[in-house]
Amino acid sequence: MRYQFKFRPYQRRFGRTLTTNHGNWDIREGIILRLTDETLRVGWGEIAPISWFGSETLEQALDFCRQLPEEITDNTIFSIPDELPACQFGFESACEWGSGKWGVGSKGDEKNNFLTPNSSLLPYSGLLPAGEAALNQWETLWQQGYRTFKWKIGIDAIAHELEIFELMIHTLPASTKLRLDANGGLTYEEANLWLWTCANLKANGELPLEIEFIEQPLPIEQFQGMLELSMSYETAIALDESVATLGQLAACYQQGWRGIFVIKPGIVGSPSRLRKFCHQHQIDTVFSSVFETAIARLAALQLAAELSRNNRAIGFGIDHFFEQEETWLQSLCKDL
Ligand code: MG
Repeated sequence: MRYQFKFRPYQRRFGRTLTTNHGNWDIREGIILRLTDETLRVGWGEIAPISWFGSETLEQALDFCRQLPEEITDNTIFSIPDELPACQFGFESACEWGSGKWGVGSKGDEKNNFLTPNSSLLPYSGLLPAGEAALNQWETLWQQGYRTFKWKIGIDAIAHELEIFELMIHTLPASTKLRLDANGGLTYEEANLWLWTCANLKANGELPLEIEFIEQPLPIEQFQGMLELSMSYETAIALDESVATLGQLAACYQQGWRGIFVIKPGIVGSPSRLRKFCHQHQIDTVFSSVFETAIARLAALQLAAELSRNNRAIGFGIDHFFEQEETWLQSLCKDL
């Protein structure tokens, strides 16, 4: 198949700064692409890199798009190098979109009605703000239907975070599932203390809710430490930064990881190869956002619906971090 290829970069400001152990994030930049096949079917795709998380940079993705001719083929798309995982995702999902099998993006979709908010049958995990602010914010998310929350740790001193944590577990309703995401910001001793605290509270009957998992407690280089911790405590550990791309995911699996894998479809690489890996190894996955627009989100939610197991909530509960998106994205698409 041959495609007419067009692309346009975008910038989008977060409604409020996103704070993690990697630092602050104010503006999301990415690329929207459009593939029109020989039968004039249109497929939309989005390249939304996060270079500090292991993908290519926006500049590398733009360079790749700029050097492509106006007409490309399936072969162009399926030979995008592994060093450009966000590009692999953007182009391949635009092809799938255009193929019509998701029931969107069909001929004459001038109204771009795919930009209506996506929904999924899977439960969503809501991202709480960092620090004490979480204690005042969870209720709004609860009213919106969220029952799984994620809270960032490894930002402040551990003693202070443990204090907030103890307040939080007694504030949140008992049916809540709580995920603690350290973004690799803990030392082995600190991670051990978090896991020990969870185990100790539970043993004393003082843990009213479920701690679903601790996410990426240690930096990527300390894989063995995380493997060891995952075998020492009942609370599960999820790898995130360690498995940003398919190559890393496969490597961790080979080295014996049988805990949870957080998959960010937007930067993991080729969707078709991801499907193959998940089917082959039946891994326990949590699907998660890269703060993409509705375009990449639709593609990511397709993958989540196909590949999620154990009914784990998906990490796409992030709409409240952005202002309304629909108008600007619609006009960008119309102009492309
Ligand atoms: Mg994470």
